[in-house]
Amino acid sequence: MPLNLTQKLILSHLTDGNDFPAPGTDEIANAMLPDPGQDIALRIDQTLTQDATGTMAYLEFEAMGVPRVKTECSVAYIDHNTLQSGFENADDHRFIRSCARKHGIWFSRPGNGICHQVHLERFGKPGKTLIGSDSHTPTGGGIGMLAMGAGGLDVAVAMGGGAYHIPMPRVTLVRLTGALPGVPGESADSLGWKSWVSAKDVILEVLRRLTVKGGVGRVIEYGGPGIAGLTVPERATITNMGAELGATTSMFPSDEITKAFLAAQGREEDWIELLPDEDAEYDNTIEIDLGELEPLAACPHMPDKVKPVRKLAGIKVDQVCIGSCTNSSLQDMLKVSAILKGKTVHPGVSLSIAPGSKQVLTMLAQNGALADMIAAGARILESACGPCIGMGQSPGSGAVSLRTFNRNFEGRSGTADAQVYLVSPETAAAAALTGVFTDPRDLGPAPAIALPARFLIDDNMIEPPVPEADMDGVEIEYGPNIKPFPASEPMPAGIAAKAVLKVGDNITTDHIMPAGAKILPYRSNIPYLAQFCFAQCDLDFAEHCQQAGRSIVIGGANYGQGSSREHAALVPLYLGVKAVIAKTFARIHAANLVNAGIAPFTFADPADYDHIETGDDLALEGIRANLESGTVVLLKNNTTGESYMLRHELSPRQRAILLAGGLLEYTKASE
Ligand code: SF4
Repeated sequence: MPLNLTQKLILSHLTDGNDFPAPGTDEIANAMLPDPGQDIALRIDQTLTQDATGTMAYLEFEAMGVPRVKTECSVAYIDHNTLQSGFENADDHRFIRSCARKHGIWFSRPGNGICHQVHLERFGKPGKTLIGSDSHTPTGGGIGMLAMGAGGLDVAVAMGGGAYHIPMPRVTLVRLTGALPGVPGESADSLGWKSWVSAKDVILEVLRRLTVKGGVGRVIEYGGPGIAGLTVPERATITNMGAELGATTSMFPSDEITKAFLAAQGREEDWIELLPDEDAEYDNTIEIDLGELEPLAACPHMPDKVKPVRKLAGIKVDQVCIGSCTNSSLQDMLKVSAILKGKTVHPGVSLSIAPGSKQVLTMLAQNGALADMIAAGARILESACGPCIGMGQSPGSGAVSLRTFNRNFEGRSGTADAQVYLVSPETAAAAALTGVFTDPRDLGPAPAIALPARFLIDDNMIEPPVPEADMDGVEIEYGPNIKPFPASEPMPAGIAAKAVLKVGDNITTDHIMPAGAKILPYRSNIPYLAQFCFAQCDLDFAEHCQQAGRSIVIGGANYGQGSSREHAALVPLYLGVKAVIAKTFARIHAANLVNAGIAPFTFADPADYDHIETGDDLALEGIRANLESGTVVLLKNNTTGESYMLRHELSPRQRAILLAGGLLEYTKASE
């Protein structure tokens, strides 16, 4: 049976006792495919953590009592909480470094870059599985990895040698034809570039067509003749922002372009060819002619509110931020530098630029491109997430901010009424010069840039773990801000709880557990974070939970979209939330709720959502027995006297996790 890329990588990593052959071998064709939606357990080759989710992941790993990681490669990155306005972030970094050194994990020091950019450059390998405690881990799909965002606890379990469970995804093929306008005859072989339309416009077009819910339960594979004109950094921009589709992951084949990228990184030996079989089948196919694309922008406040830039032309722009794991590669930065060269940033605009890694920043410095940015008036930030996670550069009141990032949820920038648009580096740089939304094609011919055949390789900011024989000599360094994992309890026989909050559609994990410079330093301190939970929806949410004792949250469609942060489940756990009942859930958040011991149910009839109000007294009688037997769950509304049928898509293992009171308790009990 011919197989697509997703099927090949899944079959080669199933862990249910089968010894499947490596991808690309003939025997794989004889393997049986799981059915879509069926729970599958995958062997994980690589893991990554970032610091905002990493402290909790390593506390969980410590609690499991596994001495050394069992993966091929695990890396701890410091890139989110780099603003040190108190001792908290620095203490967390010290804690993560000590865990990494002791437990066999590579440590990427602060200043070395954004996790996804550095992982692509220095660690990622085609044909491998990767999970990361960050929702943009699918960036690794740009080199043919099956790379997925996961909760910190899932990453801790994988580091301990456990499997990662997902529902078997459906597979969508995005078939790219043609070439981006203005790249006549050039192929990615030459690593040349001369176009005002770029990879960001490709993924914005996919988001325009599929919306933020369009990828749920799916892997998005890219193929067709058009991929030959896309470099690895461009492919990685596309797979990175596949997270905004709600997809399990996105993936490109590993081909000669991938080989050239790895060779430029001095890692040609890590390359394998990984292509879909000729007659591979997909659940559906979308065609995009690259030559037909134009500069696009995602308008406030959702990544799928996409419009052509020409229709926004003339809107006054106050701020431009260039960087993030979506658009901070050397290729992106060289384009921006070439556009800015010899000009001055408009007086009404604040332009900040954060190159994605030390490698990128050093190369920009060495070839003079950094000097061109500085001379034009750009404010250069360290190689980190920075404004993307609200770590500084919050726009002014009501300001229009153009960002090359991947999310523009309301308030994420740190300014509640800011109007954030997501654009390509080309569109961002054009607006930085003119002071208004500008179709970059109006600036005349696009400048040409070329990438070097060999990148600067210096891993001096990546610290290896100590040898296993020396691990006992490494003390784990806990700062006073690091508080224990919140306590959970086994699922009770029945739950009587208040509907403590009812929210609408597309509630993000930023709504549930906001980020930003003031809050992020407390990611290791769940009791402190609790006061900010759902603050955008109900300033007194924490107090209402405490009054209620046990509580239930009522959600609309696509509840929990956005970041993979498990704090959006751990803080509600701490506050006594026992269940979330929504119309539909985003995948990672639903899994995080289960891992925290909070039951995620959906309404069998979505219209029942309208029958529940905040403050209603609810009951899930017999929930323990329902979960044990897998039978239908009934929600009673004691305020109205009504009852509603609920559904769930919980696998037997997930039901067992909920019964145990969460993944940590389940894992301990299974040992
Ligand atoms: S989306 Fe932003 S905060 Fe998240 S990893 Fe990327 S750059 Fe960092």
